[in-house]
Amino acid sequence: MKVFKFGGASIKNALAIKNMCQIVSDHKDSDLLVVVSAMGKTTNNLELLLKERTDEAATDKNLKALLDFHMNISSELFPANHDIFNSLIDHISDLRASLQSSADYNELYDQVVSKGELISSNIIAAYLDHCGTPSQWIDAREYVRTDNNFREGHVDWKLTEELIRHDIHSLAQNNVLVTQGFIGKAENGLTTTLGREGSDFSAAIFASCLSADSVTVWKDVPGILNADPKLVKDAVLFDELPYQEAAEMTYYGANVIHPKTIKPLANKGIPLHVKSFDHPNEPGTIIHECTLKESLPPTIIIKNDQCLISFKVIDFTFVNEDNLSLIFKKLSENNIKINIMQNSAISFSIVIDNDISKIQKLVLSLKDHFDIRYNNGLQLITLKNYQQETLNSYRTDKKILLEQISRKNYRALISP
Ligand code: ASP
Ligand code: MG
Repeated sequence: MKVFKFGGASIKNALAIKNMCQIVSDHKDSDLLVVVSAMGKTTNNLELLLKERTDEAATDKNLKALLDFHMNISSELFPANHDIFNSLIDHISDLRASLQSSADYNELYDQVVSKGELISSNIIAAYLDHCGTPSQWIDAREYVRTDNNFREGHVDWKLTEELIRHDIHSLAQNNVLVTQGFIGKAENGLTTTLGREGSDFSAAIFASCLSADSVTVWKDVPGILNADPKLVKDAVLFDELPYQEAAEMTYYGANVIHPKTIKPLANKGIPLHVKSFDHPNEPGTIIHECTLKESLPPTIIIKNDQCLISFKVIDFTFVNEDNLSLIFKKLSENNIKINIMQNSAISFSIVIDNDISKIQKLVLSLKDHFDIRYNNGLQLITLKNYQQETLNSYRTDKKILLEQISRKNYRALISP
């Protein structure tokens, strides 16, 4: 059994979908589970729809844009009398209905934003069938079970594995299975999501529970490179990477693979291929258990839109374990991940992704204990496996707000 994952860019328009379905059809002789994201920028558009939900005119406009986007793609793929067009109208009416809910924001977010994957998987499964690759649409929520932590559901691995093992293998014998990335079902029966860009993780969940032979993530890059080719001219493609190295790269913010993807695969020794959907016959990168013959070239990882928050103690004491533990408790309660941290005698600084609503909650919960300052729009650069000789070229002429260096890694927070 193989698991393929296709992200938003690989299904952003009709031409891309035709290419994607060709890749699937070329592999239909193996048992195959295909995990898809929402098409193109749909998830961002659903977030916008949510943000503007109290404005009726904007809501009408946003819903129409979503419907038109999927209708236009579908009209290039299917004959005019195909059932898909009615399903699209139904999906959009469901969306309109979900927006009326007075549920808590995070809960509402998941009910609305999950629609992107439900729609895309519906179109892809129908198109595979239409092109003569028998497929079956699978509702990921019947398999991927989580707690009630909306927007970042934690997987109930035991139940999920039981459900997946129960029938996916047998279903895959007759059809290519098509399911959604990113979504699951909470204990209370509502839809949850696994965190932005979580479809890779979904593929890993299915693969791990199925003890699959491999996972392939199809991307708009040739594989994993040591730098973003849009920013660095001579970016090098890795043929292979050990799980550990790849996991660390995702931790520092390399966005080729979702950070939670590697662990479940490494635990089961399932290889992860990262390949180009434009050049499907190229080997790409394989992440697996391996010992590298040569040392790795430096990898440059850039995280934009970072927020530096400093907590200054207010009562002439020093930063100590008690006030640190209070900060960590609030970070954990608000589901905030620290990208880098540093302390001085009287202040503790963290750098996190800029998520305004989370930051506001954090600041509110700690403002009585600390003098809190924050600074947005920063860039966090990590140079993994840096070489001493070239280090300075990364540091000069930059306004560095915070810097850390270890034997293997150099990290700096930069103000543009
Ligand atoms: N569609 C979701 C997102 O854009 C999940 C994913 O693409 O992996 O975040
Ligand atoms: Mg994506």
